[in-house]
Amino acid sequence: MLNKTKNNNMKPSENLLKSLLKENRLNGFSEHEIGDDHLYTGLETPLRSDAFDLSDTEKKAQISYLFGEIMKVMGLDLNDDSLKGTPNRVAKMYIDEIFSGLNPENKPKIALFDNKYRYNQMLVEKNITFYSNCEHHFVPIIGKAHIAYISSGKVIGLSKINRIVQYYAKRPQVQERLTNQIANELKEILETEDIAVIIDAKHLCVSSRGIEDDTSATVTCYYGGAFNTPSKIVELQNYLKS
Ligand SMILES: [Zn+2]
Repeated sequence: MLNKTKNNNMKPSENLLKSLLKENRLNGFSEHEIGDDHLYTGLETPLRSDAFDLSDTEKKAQISYLFGEIMKVMGLDLNDDSLKGTPNRVAKMYIDEIFSGLNPENKPKIALFDNKYRYNQMLVEKNITFYSNCEHHFVPIIGKAHIAYISSGKVIGLSKINRIVQYYAKRPQVQERLTNQIANELKEILETEDIAVIIDAKHLCVSSRGIEDDTSATVTCYYGGAFNTPSKIVELQNYLKS
């Protein structure tokens, strides 16, 4: 249990410091190099088994304290009027806003309707703007998601597609996982394999630092079931262009 009061209990020991500073290598590459190449390890967001033992209030208190420590280590004066509220603001922003999608309690409740119109072609919801954060650098990923599905008998409210995108975006993410998590959720809810997800995003860890390329974007896609055919992909691409 971390100590929330401002004393020195949080100070890492000499040995811990040494092990923290030791560089781990994977396949001959440093963590720094791998971070820039955005390693993707699986569909599930890697969460600890005790991820939800603490309440949101307790998490905010700890993050506020620890973020204040980071600021102090960097030499910032937390007595300054402009800076003193920052640790609390960051803690609140992490838990209530930009990382709120880590907590399954925040998953949107989805109501489905019968496909009374008997509409049996693809439905495309395009240009869904989202803001996420890269889990390797904790800086923003800004992008658009395009979602398509063919009803197997149920239809979903259009704004709910948007909410599913936002829920999975509000986590530390890699774009490949975000794409597959959204596709998986929609497959489960809509009880069909006929789902397509295309994500076109800018990673600030690529544009604002590192290689500093401001023009490149990353596109990932998932074509399931009926969408995994050249003709459906062309059809979908045409709707996205229009
Ligand atoms: Zn990154």
